[in-house]
Amino acid sequence: MPKFACKDLGMECGWEAEADTMDELMQKIADHAKHDHGMEEIPPELVEQVKKVIKD
Ligand SMILES: [Zn+2]
Repeated sequence: MPKFACKDLGMECGWEAEADTMDELMQKIADHAKHDHGMEEIPPELVEQVKKVIKD
C-alpha cells in the first residue's frame, strides 16, 4: 500500500497517509498540502520528489 509522510521530505509536519492506489494517495497529499501548507497546487518538481519517497 503506498504511504507518504511529510517528514520524508524534511517537513516539520507529523502528517502521514496511505491509500490503496498511488492516485488516491496523491489526491490525499494534494488536499493536505492545500489545507495545512497553504499550497493551492503542488508544483511538478514537488510531485516528483513526493513520488520518489513514497513507499509501496
Ligand atoms: Zn504536512
